Amino acid sequence: MTTPTSIHLKDRSTLFDFVLTQRPDHVEITIQFFTSFYTTHEIPGTIALLETLLPRIFRHKCFNSGKLAFKEEAANTELGHLFEHILLEFLCIYKYKEGHLDFNLKGLTEWNWLQDPRGIFYISLNTKREDIFVLQQALLKTQNLMEVILMANTKSPMLPSKKIHKS
Ligand SMILES: [Zn+2]
Repeated sequence: MTTPTSIHLKDRSTLFDFVLTQRPDHVEITIQFFTSFYTTHEIPGTIALLETLLPRIFRHKCFNSGKLAFKEEAANTELGHLFEHILLEFLCIYKYKEGHLDFNLKGLTEWNWLQDPRGIFYISLNTKREDIFVLQQALLKTQNLMEVILMANTKSPMLPSKKIHKS
């Protein structure tokens, strides 16, 4: 049995929307971007912003197809993948603050735009039900930082926003 978990964020972004489902041993996030672009290639300031605001993200091990270090990968990667790494980093920060010193957070981002509209990503993280509080805090921070990064692309007319329908 699965339980959809609603995360209450005071101000939802107009640039993307997501739904979250807590499974017994992991969490699934379906996110849709309403931007006119879907990779960081369109946001040349991505690396500089991350270096300033979340530098530890570049220590992540990233298993991408090009076998690139995350810093290289992040300069031209799908927005969903960037969201995953930012969320992992904030989760790491909050778990550490809670006193957890030994944990291994993992994430995976997938998409299939032959089947789905462009801009939809499926992110899974190995967080458990008991991590829901830190997840909520980390999601808030991720949403804010993701907005800052997306706004750095100035030529992005927004597509009309559609809500994700969960089946
Ligand atoms: Zn990665």
